[in-house]
Amino acid sequence: MRLNLRPAGALVLGLASAASPAAKEWPIHDLTRPQPPIVEPGTAGTAEQPGRPPSDAVVLFDGKDLSAWMATKGDGPAGWKVENGYMEVVKGAGGIHTRKAFGDCQLHVEFMAPAPPKGAGQERGNSGVFFMGGRYEVQVLDSHGNTTYPDGQAGALYGQTPPLVNASRPPGQWQVYDIVFEAPRFDGEGKVTRPARATVFHNGVVVQNATELTGPTTHKVRTPYSAHEGRLPIALQDHGDPVRFRNLWVRELGERP
Ligand code: MG
Repeated sequence: MRLNLRPAGALVLGLASAASPAAKEWPIHDLTRPQPPIVEPGTAGTAEQPGRPPSDAVVLFDGKDLSAWMATKGDGPAGWKVENGYMEVVKGAGGIHTRKAFGDCQLHVEFMAPAPPKGAGQERGNSGVFFMGGRYEVQVLDSHGNTTYPDGQAGALYGQTPPLVNASRPPGQWQVYDIVFEAPRFDGEGKVTRPARATVFHNGVVVQNATELTGPTTHKVRTPYSAHEGRLPIALQDHGDPVRFRNLWVRELGERP
């Protein structure tokens, strides 16, 4: 959360929830200032069991079914396996995306790379969390004792920015991403007025700190921005590896004042 100190002494929160008051100067310690909404916090996921989402989260996957998801190929039902409280990538089924669209948001994802590990580099426990309809990827990879190009390891903004550190757990253990994603903004001519930005915690460790994206994340080429809608689905990648996911939830964030 960023705090902007203004000369008048007012504090304006950098990230506001959807219910936050409109941007305006408030006198310091003003008791008439609207109170933030009350949220019942959830619980953290552990190796043994998934966490519980906070009370205002939109649950994307609670371990039971893929009703919140669709196949990206053909827009049919999501064809990934669901068992024992997790979903698993089915090679060849293609990526899946949420039925709902999201803009600026906080996303919680728990994932597990296959054990024993198979393959090396990009061919080991590869999947991905995409924002804005497949445009911007936070890489999912088994990066435990597995070297690859740094801008393609776990926690990387794929092809752009490596994670600050490698906080990966071994394959076969559940891991957690908590991501704050801010969608890019475009003007009427389709020019970027504010690039997309991502903050990523990997297993509780900051690996991306409000990192700006230079455009869509793509393989081998740097792709410039092109204008798109402000709210689009969140997607998960089929890269051919049986990566598992559980306890996915999202909280929408309002406009920053
Ligand atoms: Mg990937």
